[in-house]
Amino acid sequence: MSTDNAANAVLEIDLGALVGNWRRLRDRLPPGAICAGVVKADAYGLGMAAVAPALEAAGCTLFFVSQLAEAVALRRLLPQSEIAVLNGLLPGSEADFVAHRLIPVLNDLGQIAAWRGAGGGRKAIIHVDTGMARLGLPPSELARLAADKSLLAGVNLRAVMSHLACADEPAHPQNARQLAAFRAATAVLPAAPASFANSSGIFLGADYHFAIARPGAAVYGVNPLPGSSNPMAQVVRLKGRILQTRDIDTGNCVGYGSTHRRECPGRIATIAVGYADGWLRSLSNRGSVAIAGQRVPVVGRISMDLMTIDVTALDPQSTRPGGFAELIGPGNDVDAVAAEAGTIGYEILTALGRRYHRVHTGGAA
Ligand SMILES: *Cc1c(COP(=O)(O)O)cnc(C)c1O
Repeated sequence: MSTDNAANAVLEIDLGALVGNWRRLRDRLPPGAICAGVVKADAYGLGMAAVAPALEAAGCTLFFVSQLAEAVALRRLLPQSEIAVLNGLLPGSEADFVAHRLIPVLNDLGQIAAWRGAGGGRKAIIHVDTGMARLGLPPSELARLAADKSLLAGVNLRAVMSHLACADEPAHPQNARQLAAFRAATAVLPAAPASFANSSGIFLGADYHFAIARPGAAVYGVNPLPGSSNPMAQVVRLKGRILQTRDIDTGNCVGYGSTHRRECPGRIATIAVGYADGWLRSLSNRGSVAIAGQRVPVVGRISMDLMTIDVTALDPQSTRPGGFAELIGPGNDVDAVAAEAGTIGYEILTALGRRYHRVHTGGAA
């Protein structure tokens, strides 16, 4: 059942705003630089099948995913664009990369050797670790690669990349350290387009831009400048259905664990969104939702399918069952919800529930 009438909650994804965000990021880069699109984890939970074609229609030609299976699904959507796989080449997966014309991001010398073995001068990206200790060639392997160019014979080097650990903290000294290490790495490797910046990295200044940027979160509306005003447009809006309302007396309690006890009489409305929909349980007794433009607090624990809000201050006409409460929207954006939950916007987006009625607006797709 996917009609609006029957939906317990509706997730609106504004593809026009999303594409506008991507263009805004691209326009910060120097002429000729490539603004890639990072669409891993189902486009940060917003739906790769809708997002990737919309970005391609806007001029994006290079896409990053994390996993081979994501890349195979993306290849079906985008027959022409370049698709790179950040998690690299798992042993035995070379033939799949070849068959689907995928670009592996090679993270160690073993993967580079395996890709040479796959033959044919195929494209690959080399990932150099410049201080994150997560993926990419460690300094010792970079030195061996620099000393023996034959290790790259038969590899069409599409790019050399690295990833910033602290890009969302512009004053963090790790940024400049990684920049220096990245410059040193590209200097000892064969000439290739360099790729360094994620969303926040694009805002660290021109030194960080290089030939290819890889923004994800900011395309989806997450603030790349935490603590400053968000230069990106909001992309998602989430509305949950009001299922029931009730009067409640002083001394009565709401929800599991009886964590919200009434100090005065009031009214409670129950909304059809819970932690199984990605409305994190850490949002229990935290934050607020909007009904008819007025903000009201969440009270009691978030349960699997339901949450409860205090609507005492509202006109009962506005809280009738079947109406909607806005959980994510202009007055309560993804970053604000994340702050209440003690997490980051990335996690709120990628947790967004599979059973929301999803509506894509504003795009050609
Ligand atoms: C996820 C990821 C990105 C995108 O990062 P955002 O902060 O979402 O812009 C870029 N590069 C790598 C290696 C990543 O893992």
